[in-house]
Amino acid sequence: MADCIFCKIASGEMAAKEVYRDDDVVAIEDLDPQAPTHLLVMPVRHYGDVFAASNSDAALAGRIVAVASRLGSERGSTGGFRLVVNTGPDGGQTVGHLHIHVLAGRRMTWPPG
Ligand code: 5GP
Ligand code: ZN
Repeated sequence: MADCIFCKIASGEMAAKEVYRDDDVVAIEDLDPQAPTHLLVMPVRHYGDVFAASNSDAALAGRIVAVASRLGSERGSTGGFRLVVNTGPDGGQTVGHLHIHVLAGRRMTWPPG
């Protein structure tokens, strides 16, 4: 996807603060953090959202959740963490390349906005 910023980050064409990378999954620090720890975990390959990814490659979707959970548990310590997958305009998604937000380091509130 030529004009997708997360494809550019995943391919290394655009800079980001990477905290994890393997052949299929990349994790970066969010540009505009909403918690002391705010990471974005995404597939290297472009999927528009979690629905598309889990329908096409459930194993990959599961791997992304596993990486996000591991990073959350490492960074959130015993206090826990939150994973968020905004999906579509009503879900608050602003970048059309699947990513899981990993939020940790403060007490989260509920309900979300
Ligand atoms: P969404 O709104 O789609 O759930 O989340 C998109 C996230 O990507 C936002 O939290 C936003 O701060 C982050 N973001 C947008 N552009 C960039 C960028 O160029 N680099 C990084 N590291 N994060 C970005
Ligand atoms: Zn993309």
